[in-house]
Parts: sequence; structure tokens; C-alpha cells
Amino acid sequence: MSKLVVVGTVAFDAIETPFGKTDKILGGAATFIGLSASHFNTDVALVSVVGGDFPQEYLEMMKNRGMNIDGIEVVEDGKTFFWSGRYHNDMNSRDTLVTELNVLADFNPIVPEEYKDAEVVMLGNLHPAVQMGVLDQTPNAQLVILDTMNFWMDIELELLKKVIERVDVITINDEEARQLSGEYSLVNAAKKIHEMGPKYVVIKKGEHGALLFHNGDIFFAPALPLEEVFDPTGAGDTFAGGFAGFLAASGDYSFENMKRAIIYGSNFASFCVERFGTERMQSITNDEIETRLKQFQALTKFEMKA
Ligand code: AMP
Repeated sequence: MSKLVVVGTVAFDAIETPFGKTDKILGGAATFIGLSASHFNTDVALVSVVGGDFPQEYLEMMKNRGMNIDGIEVVEDGKTFFWSGRYHNDMNSRDTLVTELNVLADFNPIVPEEYKDAEVVMLGNLHPAVQMGVLDQTPNAQLVILDTMNFWMDIELELLKKVIERVDVITINDEEARQLSGEYSLVNAAKKIHEMGPKYVVIKKGEHGALLFHNGDIFFAPALPLEEVFDPTGAGDTFAGGFAGFLAASGDYSFENMKRAIIYGSNFASFCVERFGTERMQSITNDEIETRLKQFQALTKFEMKA
């Protein structure tokens, strides 16, 4: 079975949407990525850090889902990363209210010995120095995928660019792609980002789907139109986890296969937004995933002579 190393935050989130408000609940990029990637036939290991305030039951849940958590360091006298956000009425945009790095501020990631030969590495959203540290410890990776956000572009752009230079795939949202490239057109933004290093550029557009760019080719995956979007938190990470998990399990990193991976990512993300935080991701079944896959096919299939 191929190995997939995931680095990212394991966090407490407090979320406000037009539908309600949560206290501190389980969140974090690595958590969402792990929850979706672990649905595939791949050996997923999380690398992260939490404080002594992080409930053991959350770690148990990850283990029960088949994730290896030896790379999650627990700093007993520290506090877990905390993020709080408020969504606008359209649910497509949000304001970050609080970002407390806490134990993440001096995190030195250690990839467990038995995962240093991992074939696939998913650099989830967190400090680029930590992403770089994981890259340096996984020299055999055949596919490296990076996710990041405007927060790191604002405060650590030069280091982030060094990480971007070394990855095969970058997944970012449309606004971040514009910020990173200085281009408004997403086609031009993808071109500029290709020049920075990644052979594949995935631009996520929330409820408007995702675009995959490679060598002048473009593929588009819609998001499933849903009656109710309850909480979009973690949708991007869940998408990245489905994408990475599918590719790691198949061992085929071609453009054709990435198209399928994007559909899987979109499929998982469509579940994530149906409840607050990780709730829905903890309950989905393989049958539900298969049913939705058929809905994705029906959504974009049409007959026409060209
Ligand atoms: P997403 O909605 O896909 O952007 O991901 C939301 C998750 O990212 C939340 O669970 C947060 O804990 C986490 N998060 C928010 N801000 C940051 C940050 N600056 N660095 C790393 N993770 C973050």
C-alpha cells in the first residue's frame, strides 16, 4: 500500500454562519485532509502538533479511521492552534476573527521513520517553514501537493515561494491565485504559477467548482449544487484530501487521472459543507460517496455532435 504523509494544522475552530455558531470544535487542515484521504486504500500519516488541551478522544477517532498519528506531537504545557471565522450571508466569503498559532509557533515537524519513504506528500495549509521541513524529510516523494492561503502569502511570501518551487501540484482558491500571481484572469494566474514551479495548478472556486491547469490543458470540475450549505469550513482541505488520497491509492499521477482525483475531491467537499466542522466527514459511507459520484457524472454529461 502506498504511503501518504499529510502535514497541516490540527486545530480548534469556532465558527459563525448564518445558520448558527459553534464553540471550540475539532478542525484544522490536516484533520479535514486526513478524514477524506483515509477513505482510500492508502496508508495515511498525519504530521502536526497539538497542546495538552487537545482531547484524547479526537486522537482516538483519527486512529480508528486508520490514520497513523505518531507524527502528531503533543506539547503538554502548550495550547492547540485556534482559528475563528464568520461567514457572510452568501457563504462564499468569510472573515477571520482570530488566528492563535499557539504550539504551532515553534513547531519542528518530525516525520516518523517508517513514513520517510512516502510516495505522496500533502503539504496542508500551515507555516511554509514547517512545509519545507517535511519536504526535506521525504526525499523519495513522487508527488508533492501543496495547499496554502493568503495568511501565509501576507507574512511569509519569500519562504512560501521556495516551497512552491519544489512541488508538483498547488491547490489554492481563486482569490489566492490572483494574489500570488498578480493576475486577475485565472488562466493567466495559472500560467504565472506554473512558472514558479508546479506542473499542475488547481484553482478552487468554492461553490463554482475547481479548475485544473497543466501545459495549456484545462479541466473543470463543478461543485455539486446543494440545497443547503451549512458550514464551508474545511471544504478546501477536504477537497485536497480526496484529491491526494485518490492519487496515492492509484499510483497514477497523470493529467487524465488528476481529472478523476478532482472529481473525488469535489465529491468529498460536497459532504463536508453539510454540517458544522468535521461532523459530516465523520459519518459518510462508501455508498453515499458512490451515489454522489453518479450525480457528478450526470451533472456534466451531455450528447451533442461537435
Ligand atoms: P478551509 O476552509 O479549507 O480554508 O480550512 C479551514 C481550516 O483551516 C480550519 O479548520 C482552520 O483550523 C484552518 N486554518 C485557518 N487558518 C489557518 C492558517 N493560517 N494556517 C493553517 N490552518 C488554518
